[in-house]
Amino acid sequence: MSFRFRVFGLVLLVAVIAIGVTAWLSIRLTALEIAQSQETSTRNEVTTVTEIQAYALRHGTWAGVDKTVQRLSIANHQRIRLTNLYGQVTVDSDHLANRAARAVVSPPALVDSRPTLKFPPEMLGAPRTPLEQKTGITELETKTLLQIALFRGTVVFARCLTDLHVDPPPVTLNEFGVPYATTGVEDSHDCGTRVGDVGAAEQPYDELPVKPCRAEKDQAKCLIKAFGERVATFTPEPLQLYLGAVTDDATNLISRPGLVAGSGVLILVILGTAVIARHVSLPVRDLTVASRRLADGHLDTRVPSGGRDELGQLSDSFNRMAAALEASEQAQRRLVASVAHELRTPLSNLLGYLEALQDGLVPPSRELFASLHDEAELQRRILDDLQDLTLAEAGHLTYRRSDFDLADLVDTARVAHLAVAEAAGVRLTAETAGPLPVHADHDRLRQVLGNLIGNAIRYTDRGGHVALRAFPDADHITVEVRDTGCGIAPADLPFVFQRFWRADPARDRATGGSGLGLTIARQIVRDHTGDLTVESTLGEGSTFRFTLPTTK
Ligand code: ADP
Repeated sequence: MSFRFRVFGLVLLVAVIAIGVTAWLSIRLTALEIAQSQETSTRNEVTTVTEIQAYALRHGTWAGVDKTVQRLSIANHQRIRLTNLYGQVTVDSDHLANRAARAVVSPPALVDSRPTLKFPPEMLGAPRTPLEQKTGITELETKTLLQIALFRGTVVFARCLTDLHVDPPPVTLNEFGVPYATTGVEDSHDCGTRVGDVGAAEQPYDELPVKPCRAEKDQAKCLIKAFGERVATFTPEPLQLYLGAVTDDATNLISRPGLVAGSGVLILVILGTAVIARHVSLPVRDLTVASRRLADGHLDTRVPSGGRDELGQLSDSFNRMAAALEASEQAQRRLVASVAHELRTPLSNLLGYLEALQDGLVPPSRELFASLHDEAELQRRILDDLQDLTLAEAGHLTYRRSDFDLADLVDTARVAHLAVAEAAGVRLTAETAGPLPVHADHDRLRQVLGNLIGNAIRYTDRGGHVALRAFPDADHITVEVRDTGCGIAPADLPFVFQRFWRADPARDRATGGSGLGLTIARQIVRDHTGDLTVESTLGEGSTFRFTLPTTK
């Protein structure tokens, strides 16, 4: 499977799992909440039904029940809707809260204010009294009829007071389960004396004399009304009570809009993932193609450098690697060309003389053989130096380090080159400041010093001076080889340490130089964590200086 599809698949998997878990958790928590709220609403339903029934028993009418409904709705944080048995709304807490009434789903509870008649146990199955036998009517029947009258009277009385906005007295259920008012109507404290006959039912209400106590007047009025209407058949009609708002169960939570929204999110996730996968895989694909081209030998291949993220860094690293490979290949090519060039001249010379000797064109002589030997010697030196340099640059040149005094080495090197200097007519001096302890490869440093002294003598005319100096400098030791020779042109100075570079190829080759000496010398010094530098003025002389860390 391609990298792109793996990224796509992984991101998609994570997204789908995240969405799934979130949805599952939401449904579970909501279902739990609904279950809890249903439990609470069942508890509240019982108290609400009881309180509303109590209102009807006390007031004998549903008029004014809206205040009770509002109070219960606020207290129980519940929506309450009362309808009659035909569905006509009596009160709705949504209306009371100035809202449009919402639909109701839960089944209604019945609020019936009619009392259920009970009989005192001692009256059931009691033997008939003589009076009962005589009249044929039992006491139970008489008392039952009385209960009807009592109930009707109580209801009419209570309803009348309620209509007049007077709070009816509290009711109690008697032994037959029928409600009756236990106390009279409470009145204000400044109530005066009662005047007039309130019991006279025939007297029209408007003609009654004025009573100073409003409640008593109302009570009388209602008593008269109760008396007049007690035969009438009416109790507040039973009502249906709906509780709670629109209720949903857990399965309904996965509704159509929910599914549509979920699918939308899923599509977004898929599209987003595809974009991410493409974004991530494009640079990887570029890198793959570029690596193949590089492997096929196209060393100039590069990938577009892309940003600062990990993939951008990878692209940059790839480009750096490709550039290094290209540079290395070019250097290798240049080296081979240089080596070929270096070896061609001495080899041509050798071949020319050998052919001439073979053909008898040149007589063999001691001088000729010495010259041919020098040519062969130069070639061997070039090859030896080349090998040293290759090993040093690859970090494979082995160093046998030991502690010694660099001042001794400088003095010894001077002595070793004295004969050559004398032959060249050059004065060679050395000035060393005390013991200069170093931890280094003695032979390799002698090679460095020998190269610098040899060059200085070689490029200094007869009568000149080559001065060696070695002195401590902070935590370093500096060794200086100063000559009063021909010097090096400023334009040539940057190339002095390049392999096979010579200021004057013809002359320098004639002196037997390989053109590798300074390159190797600098590599050896650098491998000892030091450095080799040059200062030179054309026609005045040069100073080669190398530093090494001291061991103290
Ligand atoms: P070679 O073996 O040819 O001397 P080097 O690497 O030692 O090779 O030197 C490279 C070139 O640097 C020389 O050919 C010469 O032109 C120049 N050079 C080195 N040392 C000196 C010096 N002391 N004075 C002037 N030129 C120098």
